[in-house]
Amino acid sequence: MDQKDPQAKYNSVIGKDAKYVMQTYGRQPLVLSKGKGALVYDVHGKEYIDCVAGIAVNNVGHCHPKVVQAIREQAGELMHVSNLYYTEIQAELAEALISVTGMGRVFFCNSGAEAVEAAMKLARMVSGKSAFIAAEGSFHGRTIGALSVTYKNAYRAPFEPPVSSQTTFVPYSDADAIRQAISDNTAAVILEPVQGEGGVNIPDPGYLKEVREICDETGTLLIFDEVQTGFGRTGTWFCKEQAGVEPDIMSMAKAIGGGFPMGAIAAREGISFERGQHAATFGGGPLACAAALASIGAIKEEKLLERSREMGAYFIEKLRNMDRDDVVEVRGKGLMIGVEMNYKCGDIVDFAREHGVLVNCTSDSVLRLVPPLVITKEQIDAVVGILEQA
Ligand code: PLP
Repeated sequence: MDQKDPQAKYNSVIGKDAKYVMQTYGRQPLVLSKGKGALVYDVHGKEYIDCVAGIAVNNVGHCHPKVVQAIREQAGELMHVSNLYYTEIQAELAEALISVTGMGRVFFCNSGAEAVEAAMKLARMVSGKSAFIAAEGSFHGRTIGALSVTYKNAYRAPFEPPVSSQTTFVPYSDADAIRQAISDNTAAVILEPVQGEGGVNIPDPGYLKEVREICDETGTLLIFDEVQTGFGRTGTWFCKEQAGVEPDIMSMAKAIGGGFPMGAIAAREGISFERGQHAATFGGGPLACAAALASIGAIKEEKLLERSREMGAYFIEKLRNMDRDDVVEVRGKGLMIGVEMNYKCGDIVDFAREHGVLVNCTSDSVLRLVPPLVITKEQIDAVVGILEQA
């Protein structure tokens, strides 16, 4: 095969995937090879404005120079050691995470689902109870424990029975429903402060505060899953700040490592695993920690929280002014934006991609826009122009 011929490369990649990879993803006909800021490029060299960003991962932009440099330097120093030993970079990141979360202690893992699993284990251990309350429309991951608090039946049904058969799903943004559902055996309520996969659903103001009060009254733990909403996505470090509510445990992943895989939980002072109660071979590895520290540094230096708020408001306003009569609602916080259409939006995703814009469709009819926080106004204008035509 001529590796210089982009079409041959494209065909080869698609062919190998079809033959060798479990076909779990409904992939689009696109082979990506490069990224920079809010842009990605396919093997043909075609440019796309990326409003998917690895699904809310590339908050500091693709291949941020400081993240790339940090990974390169760390890779030459120390790539992996066991958690049986200390490393300076892990201690530094722990301090930085405590500073941005305002929590007491962290535990490092490798992905969002793994963070949710850790949060569930911790909640069970601390409370001595085993049941969970989660929201309709929730998405907390695909591993078997996280799946048991994930709402969509299609994700859960083939893998029944769930590990936690004691999950009660209640309507999102309905605090009374949580009050009714709490039993003597409820370990924790787990919620996304804004639901991502469920359709970019923003709860009523006051909802999370009321849930906190109910949890306090009943001695129930509150877990916020900030895997998607974290690290500036909604305009603050974490969405909990905007609600003015502190959870007992929070999960993080996605954008934490600036594109490098990492997950973590943070728990408030007094809540913690003790020796031997949890572990992850790769959790808090030097490469991931270096990437995360560089990414947190970039968010601060480049004022990306403010930028998320400013660009998000600009984007939402532009989307609301689109000349279309098939939009049910445009909603969002920071640069976590949903455009609900009155029909399934797969065709719009295809049209946008063919015209150089990557967007994602979730919950059948919601276009989810979660671009890098470094996206420019010109790029937003171009995206809206394409979505208007789509
Ligand atoms: N929690 C939330 C809120 C998510 O959005 C996701 C992924 O989309 C997860 C958990 C699972 O994360 P991962 O895919 O890294 O396991």
